[in-house]
Amino acid sequence: AYSRVLAIHKQHLSPVDTAYFRKPLLLHQGHMEWLFDSEGNRYLDFFSGIVTVSVGHCHPKVSAVAKKQIDRLWHTSSVFFHSPMHEYAEKLSALLPEPLKVIFLVNSGSEANDLAMVMARAHSNHTDIISFRGAYHGCSPYTLGLTNVGIYKMEVPGGIGCQSTMCPDVFRGPWGGIHCRDSPVQTVRDCSCAPGPNGQGGRRECHSNIKCCDLCMCVCFATDCCQAKERYIEQFKDTLNTSVATSIAGFFAEPIQGVNGVVQYPKEFLKEAFALVRERGGVCIADEVQTGFGRLGSHFWGFQTHDVLPDIVTMAKGIGNGFPMAAVVTTPEIAKSLAKRLLHFSTFGGNPLACAIGSAVLEVIEEENLQRNSQEVGTYMLLKFAKLRDEFDIVGDVRGKGLMVGIEMVQDKISRQPLPKTEVNQIHEDCKDMGLLVGRGGNFSQTFRIVPPMCVTKMEVDFAYEVFRAALIQHME
Ligand code: PMP
Repeated sequence: AYSRVLAIHKQHLSPVDTAYFRKPLLLHQGHMEWLFDSEGNRYLDFFSGIVTVSVGHCHPKVSAVAKKQIDRLWHTSSVFFHSPMHEYAEKLSALLPEPLKVIFLVNSGSEANDLAMVMARAHSNHTDIISFRGAYHGCSPYTLGLTNVGIYKMEVPGGIGCQSTMCPDVFRGPWGGIHCRDSPVQTVRDCSCAPGPNGQGGRRECHSNIKCCDLCMCVCFATDCCQAKERYIEQFKDTLNTSVATSIAGFFAEPIQGVNGVVQYPKEFLKEAFALVRERGGVCIADEVQTGFGRLGSHFWGFQTHDVLPDIVTMAKGIGNGFPMAAVVTTPEIAKSLAKRLLHFSTFGGNPLACAIGSAVLEVIEEENLQRNSQEVGTYMLLKFAKLRDEFDIVGDVRGKGLMVGIEMVQDKISRQPLPKTEVNQIHEDCKDMGLLVGRGGNFSQTFRIVPPMCVTKMEVDFAYEVFRAALIQHME
């Protein structure tokens, strides 16, 4: 049966989407943080689908609600009203601060960001949009211009992504705001920053005698002593002044970059960047597709961890525990600007089944205290995996917040060159063979992404750690 599946895949499915693993997994069943293949082997899913399964595969409550709704009403399209949509709108808006109270329901993260881009333009009357180097905001023609992670750079006729003739008015800043300008290894620090004593994931103490940020001003969080924030801001201003002038429409930021390999910004950086964008009449968009719904632990939304209030928030993935669903939330004022200029319509957006599932997901997060679990287990996980940095020269960095952790692999800590892809692939494959699924990310696909469902336990973190460590030891032999 397995070889037949491979043959069908090869013949009929797009080669663009390369399957994880030399021997791709044929999955059969899921339960909470576990997945089972067609031969009955089980895997601890520390990638949550693709950061999509927020409360657990086939969570019993979510499944029960979905089954009930399926028998009652699946679909009407958004030109008709139905109570699951209104119930969901009320629940979701209660979780967002004023004035973020108007919701547009769509089906995917790319679609949500497309709509956010249109909103920003309709509201500001400007066209230029900025995103960060290393960002991932989707792969629709519009959002391709915002996406800028190495492996997703689209070499299409006319250029890369939206810098092509497809949508020339989308602008991507050339500044090295997130990464070092010169270093090809863009996210690895060369300092002895260690997780803070209180385990606030992503906050590090910096040993300021080591000039980490002069060498590599990328992901040092110890901004107080490293001046990283000031340098980021200088570059950000540079981009605004030289490339965008006064006409910025919008600025997109993931509170933590996910696809780029769990890359964080210096403290206070986003706050200042938001202010600079607003001074020039642009709106600020938080892409919470990966960071929302309590995954970061300390707060429900990633933007709250930066103490900023966006004008538009986009969300997908975990919103439906993996069911296709997404949303854009904005202010009444911006919603009005859009309504004046555009009839926005989505055939499937806000369908009864998605909304019922979305409501069940929110209830489970609350009832099972999953945000608190993200905080507790996430902190435990970051500290535990951070030990690998001391033990292995090929572990260049361990970073993150809550249940979003990145382990960046290098050839050695001196050269900081990314570990070759074949070697990273092997470690990845070995983890799978020992029953652990983790994700990959980063410009060179060099960063493992450890992003389990929010119901994960410390015992499972221990298991994941042992497997990952065993795979590294195997690699060194
Ligand atoms: N934004 C972010 C931050 C993402 O990680 C992704 C997906 N990886 C998207 C947007 C696009 O979402 P989708 O694949 O649902 O279109």
